[in-house]
Amino acid sequence: MKSNFVMKRQAVVAWLALVAISVMPFSALAQTQIKYHSNKYSVQDDVKLGRQAAQEAEQQFPLLRDEQVRSYVEDVGRRLVNAIPSEFQHPEFQYYFKVVNASDINAFALPGGPMYVNRGMIEAAHTEGEMAGVMAHEISHVALRHGTAQASKGQKYGVLAGIAGIAGTILGGPGVGQLAQAPFAVYLLKFSREYETEADILGAQIMARAGYDPRDLANMFRTLEQQGGGGGGGFLSDHPSPSDRYARINREAQSLRVSAVRNDSRDFARIQERLRGYQRAPTMAEIQRSGQRYPVGESTGNSPNNVPNSVPTGRVEYPSSRYQSYTIFNGGVQVSVPSNWREINDSNSVWFVPEGGYGQYNGQAVYTHGVSFGVAQVSNRDLQSATQELINSLAQGNNNLRTSGGYQRTTLSGRTALFTTLSNVNEATGRPENVRLITTQLRNGQLFYMVAVAPQSERNFESAFQNTLRSIRIND
Ligand SMILES: [Zn+2]
Repeated sequence: MKSNFVMKRQAVVAWLALVAISVMPFSALAQTQIKYHSNKYSVQDDVKLGRQAAQEAEQQFPLLRDEQVRSYVEDVGRRLVNAIPSEFQHPEFQYYFKVVNASDINAFALPGGPMYVNRGMIEAAHTEGEMAGVMAHEISHVALRHGTAQASKGQKYGVLAGIAGIAGTILGGPGVGQLAQAPFAVYLLKFSREYETEADILGAQIMARAGYDPRDLANMFRTLEQQGGGGGGGFLSDHPSPSDRYARINREAQSLRVSAVRNDSRDFARIQERLRGYQRAPTMAEIQRSGQRYPVGESTGNSPNNVPNSVPTGRVEYPSSRYQSYTIFNGGVQVSVPSNWREINDSNSVWFVPEGGYGQYNGQAVYTHGVSFGVAQVSNRDLQSATQELINSLAQGNNNLRTSGGYQRTTLSGRTALFTTLSNVNEATGRPENVRLITTQLRNGQLFYMVAVAPQSERNFESAFQNTLRSIRIND
């Protein structure tokens, strides 16, 4: 297949030479025919695997919660999906598009259609066409069923089975740690050069059919190189970058007629402007180091669906003296909290917060009062170093966070734990607050933590926090 393809490419080069000499019309250049590779999996398998991987992805990566940005990206994606040539359309596939709040210039798509576009990629693109180019490339991997085709070759089967087989156990299970070590974003994009070239070519064809200049896909590779995308974590690092990639796409572009040309939309400039208004996004590496579990709401872009789209007032009821018990993390933890706090499930952490004490600020979910629980992936095995590692990762997204005391040894559900007090200035209210952090290690080395937040001036939350802490049962 590969040598076959190389031959075809040489044939095109020969054609080009011929064109230059004899001034043949461009229409003589046929667009490159792409074919499916053999695949042991059914189309339904693609859908199922992609769906499972998408769940893992959304646990691992913070989504940017901004409806304007999301729907804009969705519109561009929809236009591209509608332009997939009929032989590569699968009615079973459900394409959708989400924005990850990460600064790396990257994007990835999962079998069956889920796609994740990094905020950094949107910010780096010079035009909507460049952004659409990366998306068209990724859509092509999906439409050509490259993920399962590659798995069919055998050598990647174990990895694929591993990802698909990860159950929802957050505590104790291999899932989170395994993913952190072998992020499937990298795995899924580690396609052969042949697959990459095919995705470039089909991507260019889809671009043209959708009304974009296919040369914008080529231009994006220049943009990536200029902006250091070839370094760690970028789109180029996931992809073999043959020096002729830019030229190859431009050659293909000569055989393509752009239908119903789109002018660069003003929306693109508006969306970029909007993104520039947010604080710096973390890199994928930072996200991985922190286990992507930011207990302080300010740092997470991954906000739950049921958080009101308004700034928290910070005016809340006293904690009820009645307690309600909850089971969280798929049965891994039991906890009782005041009955007037409600449960909010971020995909990475669980919050219990009173009405008025949570909301959104700057597109991020935040809370002013209450507790949150999470599990962090840490590299340190020693509890104190691991806790410091967690604090460091929190401080990266939050300039106001300060350690205000040492570590105190305590117990949590019968195991050794550390208690630390931090001070912070709440981003949404501007009020100084105390952040209590309690950490303990799970058997698999991950760090389980509870964070309790209340304004420094409000002492009436102390006993509620103590009671909540004492009620925790960890089934590890
Ligand atoms: Zn690719």
